[in-house]
Amino acid sequence: MTGGNAIRGMRIGSSPSGAEIERGESAPRQRVAYWCDKEHLTEPSFAMDARVPDTWECSHCGLPAGRDRENPPPPKRNEPYKSHLAYVKERRSDEDGMELLDEALRKLRQQRGRPES
Ligand SMILES: [Zn+2]
Repeated sequence: MTGGNAIRGMRIGSSPSGAEIERGESAPRQRVAYWCDKEHLTEPSFAMDARVPDTWECSHCGLPAGRDRENPPPPKRNEPYKSHLAYVKERRSDEDGMELLDEALRKLRQQRGRPES
């Protein structure tokens, strides 16, 4: 376990204005904005040729943060949601199965009657 405590402590004192950080850097960098579910903004910087990840850990609360502000990734903690979703999916496939069966029966009946031409 590498705790983020040291990093978090450093961030409290640092100002969010990124201008001075950019001044000190020689290599060209890109800053990427990430928003977590609680609308915290995290702006890590990457080398220009680095592959920018889709998600980043929020530096404020540790939740996963995404690049789409309107659509942040769901918090990891919501395990109950997952099982609920799985339950819904199960029900859904059940209903789909019933529908398919219904349709198959209907076709069977049609075939037994006179085929439309
Ligand atoms: Zn956050």
